[in-house]
Amino acid sequence: MAQKQPKKSPLSRKDLLRFEQALLEEKQRVLKQGTFTRAVMDIPANSGDLSTHRTHIADQGTENFQREFASQLRSIESQSLREIDDALARIAAGTYGLCERCGEPIPIARLEVIPYARLCMKCLKAQTAKHSP
Ligand SMILES: [Zn+2]
Repeated sequence: MAQKQPKKSPLSRKDLLRFEQALLEEKQRVLKQGTFTRAVMDIPANSGDLSTHRTHIADQGTENFQREFASQLRSIESQSLREIDDALARIAAGTYGLCERCGEPIPIARLEVIPYARLCMKCLKAQTAKHSP
């Protein structure tokens, strides 16, 4: 009958609001950066007839490099956005600030640095030491 009660967030309502704000700001920042990245990626392949003949080999190389770089950035961005959204969901669910692995509270100092941290330091170390599957 005593159903196991999920642990509740160890943070005060005030702290939760503060971290929610920080996450929303971080999300805006990433979205803004994403707009820039998309702008770089949307460079038309053939922009020769726009104003000047600038289709030198060197330019092509630079554009390819920029595209590759931008696409790497994009995957980092979408990953960040997912982390941020997950953290916001945890705030809504009342489980924010708890380690997803061991259920222990994540130190607030760590959340200050990474507001979307999902693991405590102990579990993070255990996870990185193990190498990814
Ligand atoms: Zn943990």
